[in-house]
Amino acid sequence: MNQRPSRSDLYGEVDRISHELWGVALEIANKPELAFEERYASQRAVEYLKSHGFEVQTPYLWLDTAFRASFKLGDGGRRVAFLAEYDALPEIGHACGHPLIAGMSIGAVVALSRFRGLLPGEIVVIGTPAEEQVGGKVLLADGGAFDDIDCALMVHPSDRTEIVTSTLALFDVTFEFKGMAAHASAFPFQGRNALDAAIMTYCAISALRQQLPSDVRVHGIILEGGRVPNIIPDSAKMRYFVRAPQIEMAHEILKKIAQCAKGASLSTQTDVEIHVADTPYFPLLSNERLCSIFAGQLDLLHVPYEMRRDGKEAVGSSDVGNVSGLIPTLHPTLQVCERGVTCHTRGFASAAVTDRAKEAMVVGTKALAGTALEILSSPEIFKEVREEFLSRTAYVCDRLDVGHIS
Ligand SMILES: [Zn+2]
Ligand SMILES: [Zn+2]
Repeated sequence: MNQRPSRSDLYGEVDRISHELWGVALEIANKPELAFEERYASQRAVEYLKSHGFEVQTPYLWLDTAFRASFKLGDGGRRVAFLAEYDALPEIGHACGHPLIAGMSIGAVVALSRFRGLLPGEIVVIGTPAEEQVGGKVLLADGGAFDDIDCALMVHPSDRTEIVTSTLALFDVTFEFKGMAAHASAFPFQGRNALDAAIMTYCAISALRQQLPSDVRVHGIILEGGRVPNIIPDSAKMRYFVRAPQIEMAHEILKKIAQCAKGASLSTQTDVEIHVADTPYFPLLSNERLCSIFAGQLDLLHVPYEMRRDGKEAVGSSDVGNVSGLIPTLHPTLQVCERGVTCHTRGFASAAVTDRAKEAMVVGTKALAGTALEILSSPEIFKEVREEFLSRTAYVCDRLDVGHIS
């Protein structure tokens, strides 16, 4: 075998290791771990990659459960990264199917690694913890993890196969009100009620919602609102997510809801502290050239798909958006279960460990590996990917001054 590997050679390699990949995915699925606690999952992926000759750094940057595994195929060429997620959700376990993401990404690189010397470039897996909370990719991006990468590829399980996906920008904000405790019956006039401030903020934001564009999402909870009814609460805490199709729009709305909290604090003579998490999620900008290559692989594999959803349909947010602002990024979804069994449900967690999910994982691994094969083999194709990225990256992931809301 002394020529460029064919697609069928590559698919054959994926079939050969498919039982091993499913073993890794199932073991991770059976041991759900929350954000930044994914020790078992990251170690399992790392062990597997090391056993196939990958050089691995873990912890990676300053994240204990992140890793970077690399394998040089040949001189020159592109450095293609595959992203592996493996965090679970509280109480409902692996209800976003992240073990399948890990399985597909590590499977694609191990299959490609068989062609050392026959392709230029390097393949990398970046283990990205804490997608569901905090945003490991935001921290990795800030730490420079993607600075020397040419493009990033991953596939997310779903109840539908959709090629060009989009997500909303997201800010995570906490309001903390401080008042004055007092006996709620004997001396209520001595108190300043922090819970009232939280309730008024909640109502003010609910009223504001009518004036917000329909594709914006603002949703929150009260984390603390007093201990017992006979003490005027001197402390209350709320947490909100603010989401919008563009980061600038989300930031404008963040400023408006901060005004709701400030108004409530003024009315109740309490103090408010506003803390904005410094890991906002940027909206996902799917690279359409990468999408078309991936769709071509699904055609060859006889897998039906939708190119994109109706723009009015609801979407969530993901830290992969921050990667997509830095380098060309592929993030399609792949159907692993019946339509209507949506992620973040117990039903999805069960569906993601069935034989059907295994078959989907193998197909997704082939399509991912095949997409990378096109990029690694053809400088012209990568040039098109890069040009499309440069022409469409309207925003730059410069830090907004998110800690200061005036
Ligand atoms: Zn999720
Ligand atoms: Zn997910």
